[in-house]
Amino acid sequence: MNIIEGGKELLRRNLTFGTGGNLSERKKDGFLITPSGISYDCLEEKDLVLMDMEGSIVHGIHKPSSEWEMHRQIYRNFYKANAVVHTHSKYVNILACTGESLPAIHYLLASVGGNSVDIAPYHTYGTKELAEDAVKYMGNKKAVILANHGLITWGDSIKEALDIAETVEFCSFLYVEASTFGTPTLISNKEMELMLEKFQDYGPGKR
Ligand code: 13P
Ligand code: ZN
Repeated sequence: MNIIEGGKELLRRNLTFGTGGNLSERKKDGFLITPSGISYDCLEEKDLVLMDMEGSIVHGIHKPSSEWEMHRQIYRNFYKANAVVHTHSKYVNILACTGESLPAIHYLLASVGGNSVDIAPYHTYGTKELAEDAVKYMGNKKAVILANHGLITWGDSIKEALDIAETVEFCSFLYVEASTFGTPTLISNKEMELMLEKFQDYGPGKR
């Protein structure tokens, strides 16, 4: 899945609306990122912006996403990150707006590489402060909630970063809805450690 297809998937999976969110992919000596404020429906390859790891534009006819610094910081801090996806999904944003981090409500949350997703403090979108705190509060996981804003994830591909964003939205939905009935039952740390192990070789394979 490339960035253009990933943008359409963001809308199809209901992970954002309008021109909210952005996507990027690591390239040799830099990263390719979506332009600022252009609808995913009409996005074409020629609209993407290539940036180097110092944050300079190498090639592109448009302004890069206003969140390029957050993408850059993730590539610089996580050598395994090949793609970054930022979303404004609804249930994640309920947590983002109440300040409650996402605990282990479902075993699928292990796909973030830990047993919770924490919340980075609010900063104006597109700022260095937001980028720095996103990386800080991500810890060694693949996702962090941005207070009063949304979510940012990384993966080894656009597909993995998108799948993680969808899983965090699903778990946030479960947590918010379950909380309306009572106190949600959480999965123990020991069991989540086992899930992290099991996820290493989950998928199709020969018997
Ligand atoms: P861009 O259109 O500049 O990528 O901004 C969208 C967004 O989500 C800002 O946080
Ligand atoms: Zn945003």
